Amino acid sequence: MNYGGRTSMSNHPEEQLSAYLDDELGDEDRQLVEKHLESCETCRAIMEDLFTMKQQFGEVFALVDAPENLENRVLHALRQEQSQKKHLRDWAAAIVIGLIPLIVLYFIAGPVALKLIHGCYKLMVTLLYAASHFILSVPTLSVTTILLAVIILATSSYSLKRLLQTNAG
Ligand SMILES: [Zn+2]
Repeated sequence: MNYGGRTSMSNHPEEQLSAYLDDELGDEDRQLVEKHLESCETCRAIMEDLFTMKQQFGEVFALVDAPENLENRVLHALRQEQSQKKHLRDWAAAIVIGLIPLIVLYFIAGPVALKLIHGCYKLMVTLLYAASHFILSVPTLSVTTILLAVIILATSSYSLKRLLQTNAG
């Protein structure tokens, strides 16, 4: 804090007292304030009040700091949760993309394919369940998700192709 104008010693350097407390005065000003305080009871009283206020502010700021840290922690946790949700969305997208050919297969081949689809689906769910535990602990999930989608897509496309060939033959 810089109050600009210099306080003459005939007046009380009230404005400089705060700066003095904050140790923001130059050597010259500090000595002037100290000299004034020695001879002025009023300013000593003001000084005491300021000192008490400053301490209380310090306590308040300490209290304010805690929620700020808490807020940061909450935000951090939220961000992690959001990225986890995003990962889950990636997962859902991968499964949907992968299952589209199976759905197409179901509509084309009908009940004949139902048993096969059901078998594939059960196997896939089991695999997905097992893989999800592994994948949720991997940070580069998006890449994994894409790979997974490709694998599911390839597998189900292959199943579709084979089934259609079987039906044709
Ligand atoms: Zn004074």
